[in-house]
Amino acid sequence: MATADDPTGNLHVAILPFMAHGHMIPIIDIAKLFASRRGVKTTIITTRLNAPLVSKQIPTTAEIHIELIRFPAAEAGVPEESETADFFSSTAQKMGPNFLFKFFHAAALLRRPLDAALAKIRPDCLVSDAFFPWSAESAGKFGIPRLVFHGTGYFALCTAVCIRVHKPHKNSDSESFVVPCLPGKIELTPSQLPESARKEEEGNPFTELVREMAESEGKSYGVIVNSFRELEPNYADFYRDELGRRNWAIGPVSLSNRRSEEKAGRGGRGTGESSSDCLKWLESKEPDSVIYICFGSLADFADSQLKEIAAALESWGGSFIWVVRKDPRTESESESEEEWLPVGFEDRTAEKGLIIRGWAPQILILDHEAVGGFVTHCGWNSTLEGITVGKAMVTWPVAAEQFYNEKLVTAVLGIGLPVEAEKWVRGTGDDEVIMAEGIEIAVRRLMDGDEGKEMRRKAKELREMARMAIEEGGSSHSSLSDLIDELKQRSHV
Ligand code: UDP
Repeated sequence: MATADDPTGNLHVAILPFMAHGHMIPIIDIAKLFASRRGVKTTIITTRLNAPLVSKQIPTTAEIHIELIRFPAAEAGVPEESETADFFSSTAQKMGPNFLFKFFHAAALLRRPLDAALAKIRPDCLVSDAFFPWSAESAGKFGIPRLVFHGTGYFALCTAVCIRVHKPHKNSDSESFVVPCLPGKIELTPSQLPESARKEEEGNPFTELVREMAESEGKSYGVIVNSFRELEPNYADFYRDELGRRNWAIGPVSLSNRRSEEKAGRGGRGTGESSSDCLKWLESKEPDSVIYICFGSLADFADSQLKEIAAALESWGGSFIWVVRKDPRTESESESEEEWLPVGFEDRTAEKGLIIRGWAPQILILDHEAVGGFVTHCGWNSTLEGITVGKAMVTWPVAAEQFYNEKLVTAVLGIGLPVEAEKWVRGTGDDEVIMAEGIEIAVRRLMDGDEGKEMRRKAKELREMARMAIEEGGSSHSSLSDLIDELKQRSHV
């Protein structure tokens, strides 16, 4: 803590991640960014089963500590292992809304353990995930500022507020509507909105959570945004000036991973061996010739959808890395036993394609010059990671705020083509399948045509802006410096 004698002294930042990869990965990067500054130490407050996942992602040299708190699984009636980010990705989504409700109840019961941890470690501020709205009061109890981390960019944050406040979908059943008040003419349809917005009046518990999250933002010191100003300046201004949110854009936070081991280990699940195999394979390919297909840590497509993707890739005929959320094949299993893949697919595409079952070293793959396009579900981390390394995209949103991110990529930045997903879904059923022909057309346009070339050119310009933003003197670097200075001044006693 800074003292009267040393107002520029140390700052202790406590960080409370939500246990899902899409939230935990970027907040660990944020911990690294804080800890990379002189006089700042960070403590990540997390549960026992997540601790190994967290510690794998932080360099031993960094001033980052881990403080354990107990996950109240029994009190909330959820299995003990449900506290892990891996469980949230692999199992929680499939267990249905009742389980998710209990899970979020367990997350809310972290309040007392958090209070005890704050009493013990006495940090100068708390950065906590937006899914912990009550943590604003915990911070208040200890007289320290709470900074909210939503995990999304300005565009999605602004769109969500405009929709929540103006409810344009209420007057529009299937027709598209223009998002009221938002800069630009952004069109969406009701079916693309998150369930919490669509089913507000039906007593959806997640609507209540979203309301608490919005309320708690008002009680918080400000918002940390994983974006950079130059990417979405109109929306950064709108967020601050029209929506009145104090905020600091300090991204792209993935760029805090500079060494290849850090990039390979991000997410805490990959192995060095699989990363080097991947890179070796990419080395044999021409620049901009490979398309990388990955739908994040949660989206889980039906086998029928995976077959359509396989058919599209085969008939396109170009090179690909395709990440599928399936367990790696055991030695005794043959391809024909995997029902989601057309028989003989891997033999026929052996030269051209690489299928990764499970977890891919995403930022390492995306960064490779052989990768020319990214088929993405538009989770914000993936979207920004693609932008950060200058990749054009085929956008295939599935859930959450991904349809908003798609609009940023396609309508605002002009660096992506939609696969024409029309509906917010989780774990798509057969009726939601996007057919091979549509997928192939989008991939072909992105990878083989002039249109795609122009998108890659624009994306590469954004890559340069992203890199400059985090270097000394850049917008995100300065924004983090300003925040740290302000927090140090505040903790001056
Ligand atoms: N990710 C990865 N390897 C994978 C799948 C995902 O490294 O095989 C990382 C990806 O780089 C990103 C995060 O997991 O940082 C996923 O977050 P995103 O917001 O894109 O989507 P979500 O998983 O929350 O839907």
